[in-house]
Amino acid sequence: MDRLRREGLGMTSQRTRNRLIQRLRDEGISNEEVLDVMASTPRHLFLDEALAIRAYEDTALPIGYGQTISQPYIVARMTEILLSRAKSLHRVLEVGTGSGYQTAILARLVDHLYSVERIEPLLDQARRLLRELEHRNVEFKLSNGGFGWPEKGPFDAILAAAAPASIPDELKQQLAPDGVLVIPVGSERQFLTIVTRREDSDQFDVEKLEAVRFVPLLSGVVR
Ligand code: SAH
Repeated sequence: MDRLRREGLGMTSQRTRNRLIQRLRDEGISNEEVLDVMASTPRHLFLDEALAIRAYEDTALPIGYGQTISQPYIVARMTEILLSRAKSLHRVLEVGTGSGYQTAILARLVDHLYSVERIEPLLDQARRLLRELEHRNVEFKLSNGGFGWPEKGPFDAILAAAAPASIPDELKQQLAPDGVLVIPVGSERQFLTIVTRREDSDQFDVEKLEAVRFVPLLSGVVR
């Protein structure tokens, strides 16, 4: 990809990005690896040109099809949780590719990333962009991610960017021993939730963290 496009100018420049990183620090994100990766990931490329100037505001923005690119803070928060909780990040599943922004962040921190999305045009666009950004450790699939990706599991970690009413059993079952699932859960009110599979058992620990706001996890595929 063209260097200027990747590096950005003015409202998409490194200086503007660094201000976002400072804001994330102020909000409590402290993992330097996460902050480094976010500082060098061009979020403006995951948005329509008209919205690119807002890419380094700490806010969710529309990406079409009624969906949004996640707020940088929540991307940082969930990624930080994965890094601190998972014992290994060899095989990781992402549910809800969307723009591919969180995918690009995760791709730099894990060995093999699998990402599923139910809306085909979003998936195609994300796949194209990730290829342009030369991330070669990501596989994509068009499907209802509530069922996970059983052929590719078990996973050391699963991150979901859309909220089901309750924790999908299929996702729990695809966790490796000591595997960690980070997922927003709830219908009226959602809470960021961490599910950990106890070593070599069918037992899971569930922790409910702060209130969050994500798009709902929907079923079926849109072509
Ligand atoms: N992290 C993404 C978030 C996109 S919003 C980003 O920053 O761009 C959440 C995404 O989850 C949407 O693209 C939505 O289509 C997708 N989604 C919702 N339900 C899904 C399901 N059952 N399976 C796969 N993807 C789903």
